[in-house]
Amino acid sequence: MQAHADTLRLFFALPCPPEQATAIAQWRDGQLPGGRKVVPDNFHLTLAFLGAQPATRLEALKHLAAAIEAPSFELKLDGLIALGKGFVCLRPQSPPAALLQLATSLGQALGAQGIMLDCRPFLPHLSLARQAELPPHCTPPTFSWAADRFVLYLSENTRDGVRYRELGSWPLAGAGAEAAG
Ligand code: ATP
Ligand code: MG
Repeated sequence: MQAHADTLRLFFALPCPPEQATAIAQWRDGQLPGGRKVVPDNFHLTLAFLGAQPATRLEALKHLAAAIEAPSFELKLDGLIALGKGFVCLRPQSPPAALLQLATSLGQALGAQGIMLDCRPFLPHLSLARQAELPPHCTPPTFSWAADRFVLYLSENTRDGVRYRELGSWPLAGAGAEAAG
């Protein structure tokens, strides 16, 4: 869905570091025969999907993100799942408590600003392909990285398909990085 010109289609997510994205895409390409493959640059794990928001709200959202205090954690994607209409995804078999807490904190902070999230329970996943099928007997791989920041993304439709633009990035504690954006 294309957002109206003065609205932005936004979501908070954990970015997938480039090295892991390359490895995940390589594994995916060897395992999934068909479907529309997600480009590795787009790999992410959504924490909170905001949908179309007035552009004027952006600064408040960045403030909200900067106020989140949450620890960094090891994100291990060691499960496979088919979701919705043909999304094949990686997921953590046991989501770390810090991941669930981060999503909850964001949801609560957004709720306090009147932004209500989808009422479905949080199901952490990284989409690999759409219009795809999980091959039977496909053994889940294990990919992991240190989740040391979270990002506010702008989802944009381009001629080459959907692209996500980073609007801001905030460190998770222990990460020692500077907030940007
Ligand atoms: P497109 O919808 O344009 O084909 P996309 O699904 O990758 O591409 P968005 O719809 O902008 O892009 O979604 C961005 C992220 O937010 C994706 O991870 C998507 O799964 C997630 N998302 C979208 N809608 C919801 C929703 N209602 N609830 C939770 N997460 C959502
Ligand atoms: Mg979508």
